[in-house]
Parts: sequence; structure tokens; C-alpha cells
Amino acid sequence: MEFALFRQFDDLFFHTVTDRFGGISQTPYDSLNLALHVGDDLKNVLQNRIRTSEKYNFDIKNLIFMDQVHGSEIAVIEHAMENRKAGIDAMITAERNIPLMVMVADCIPILFYDPVKKVVAVAHAGRNGTFLRIAPKTVFKMQAQYGCDIQDILIGMGPSIQRCCYEVGEDLADICTKNFGKGFIMIEENKYFLDLQALNLAQLKESGIAADNIEISSVCTACDKNYFSYRREGVTGRFAGFIMLR
Ligand SMILES: [Zn+2]
Repeated sequence: MEFALFRQFDDLFFHTVTDRFGGISQTPYDSLNLALHVGDDLKNVLQNRIRTSEKYNFDIKNLIFMDQVHGSEIAVIEHAMENRKAGIDAMITAERNIPLMVMVADCIPILFYDPVKKVVAVAHAGRNGTFLRIAPKTVFKMQAQYGCDIQDILIGMGPSIQRCCYEVGEDLADICTKNFGKGFIMIEENKYFLDLQALNLAQLKESGIAADNIEISSVCTACDKNYFSYRREGVTGRFAGFIMLR
């Protein structure tokens, strides 16, 4: 899928969020699994990545991906020498032709683009990363590192588990309400549901991003079988968000 918000800049940068189709991995990774760490055949994963690079016309040699740890460490990428970044959950670059990839199966793949300073970023926002405020931290890093203006930054949140399916325990619901206020936990029949997208949206708005500069996919990965879902499937693949300056 692509974000409508980014469409006017198609000539200047590339972005997409993949789904689970078009690859060669076998069940339960069928078929476009892009992650090396989930137990899939590595040859298939590499082939899936090559297919993705050919479809979207980027140089696979420059692809940068993260060993994501549900933290909030952010890397600034200044060259494509090191393809695999350990222990981080967000990346920022102002370099052209370096595709950044964020892998998910229910967590939110967040893409950032500043068309003025020409900076792109990705972030992996699951529950933990969101509680650690990874989205606004990425925005602040874009400002600190590249002088991005908060008014210029556009943000897309890709398919991810939504409140219809994201049941959490009472303890976690309490932590969320205590730390972030009301409105992010829905209670139905004594069950608690977390609205991860609303929490990221609130954090971004609080950091100064205008609501008009944020687009949120309405697709719930746990409902929609076009996407991998850790909640629905357990052992499964990862789809990914990509962004790259041309
Ligand atoms: Zn759902």
C-alpha cells in the first residue's frame, strides 16, 4: 500500500508498505516474508528481498534493515556500508538511494518524510516502542540532526493491529492510562483493548505535528489476512515499510 499523503512527492522519493503476496516462502511464511529472524529459509527471504527490490527499482546492495528490539534507539544512516543495524528501532537518512526497511507483523511501520530538508525515516512502533515514544523521538532526531521543521514532516502509519483485536491485560491497560491518559484503552465486556494508532497520533500531535500531516492506514493486520499477523498466527513472516530518497 502507499500513503495518499506522500503521493505528490512520488518523483522525489519512493515508499511502500508490502503485503504477504508475491514471494516464495512456504507456510507459515507464505509468501513474501522479508525477515531473517523468524525461522524461515534464509535463501527464500533473500530471494523475497531481491524480488521486492526489482519490483520497486531500488538497489538491494544499499538496503538497510534493523535487528529490532522493541526499544527506542535511533540510528542516523550516512552511508550504505552496513546493511544490518543491531539494537535499534528507527533510522533516519538524508542520503539518496539508500532504502530503509522496517519489518512488522502487527506493530506499526511508521514512515517519515520531510520534502523540504529531504530527509526520510522509518520507525518500528509496537507497544513497547510506543510506550517509549519512539515516533516523537524520531521526529526530534530529524530536527536535531538535519534541522527539519516540525511543520514540514509528513508521517504515514501502515497496516497494524487495531483496537478491534489488540486485547491487553488489565495491568497493562492501567499502565497505559496512568502514563498517557484516558482514551487509548477501550473496555468491552471486561476486556481491555489498546488503540496503538491513537496513542502514536496523540504523541505526534503533542510534539507539534499537525493532524493533516499524518495518515493512518485503517487496515487491522489481525483482521486482514493479506498481511502477516503475530497475534493471529504466532509463527509467521514479516511484511515491511520501505522509504528511500531518489
Ligand atoms: Zn482487528
